[in-house]
Amino acid sequence: MRSLLFAANWKMHIGPSEARAFFATFLRSHTAQPNREVWFFPPAVSIEAVATAVRERSDLRAGAQDIHWEPKGAFTGAISGPLAAQAGARATLVGHSERRHVFGETYEQTGKKVAAAVRAGLHPVLCVGETLAQREAGETLTVVTRQLDAALGASVQADVTIAYEPVWAIGTGRNATPQDAADVHRAIRTWLTDRKARTIRILYGGSVTTKNAAELLAERELDGVLVGGASLDPSGWLELVRTTAA
Ligand code: PEP
Repeated sequence: MRSLLFAANWKMHIGPSEARAFFATFLRSHTAQPNREVWFFPPAVSIEAVATAVRERSDLRAGAQDIHWEPKGAFTGAISGPLAAQAGARATLVGHSERRHVFGETYEQTGKKVAAAVRAGLHPVLCVGETLAQREAGETLTVVTRQLDAALGASVQADVTIAYEPVWAIGTGRNATPQDAADVHRAIRTWLTDRKARTIRILYGGSVTTKNAAELLAERELDGVLVGGASLDPSGWLELVRTTAA
């Protein structure tokens, strides 16, 4: 049976008390479904509240949105893999487009963060994707391949998930078509197969909502979705994570 992962990126929303209220609603209605996992990436201050809320559910997981590559030190404002793990995280996003394009994270840094995540026992969810200018210049696959090479290297050592998130689709209301997404997912799958890592999950992210999730997930190349805006409201998210993939 096909297994699906629904990942919620809460970005800079939902503090600890709001997270507890979210789960009071969510857990009341969402029972574990076979072959379906739901992961949450709250802001760092809310990781512990989320981890506590999901601790008895093997289908649910808390994660960090970003980690520093060093385990500790003078890096004001940052959190490390071991600190995130101590708060209850079991995964982390790496290389989200907002980290790359708003905070200037480099390709080299994403590689260091994937390695740091693995050292801390966190499952990395590596985000890759092209800008609109790169897509229009026909550079999508070159950019995505460069991002994979830089973050994962020639041999994929990590137990990792990849999220293909075209930058032009994130938070814009403009999602990729299932065909657009599938084309890039196939190229990523080929890159993984060449490195004997064919079975790694590939998610799609970018303006996924309850309205387009079924159509996107009907595309068999998608192993799930990474969702920002539409994951913030517990009732909408409940509906989204129950999407039947045609
Ligand atoms: C994201 O933040 O990873 C994302 C895909 O956001 P949105 O769903 O709001 O486009």
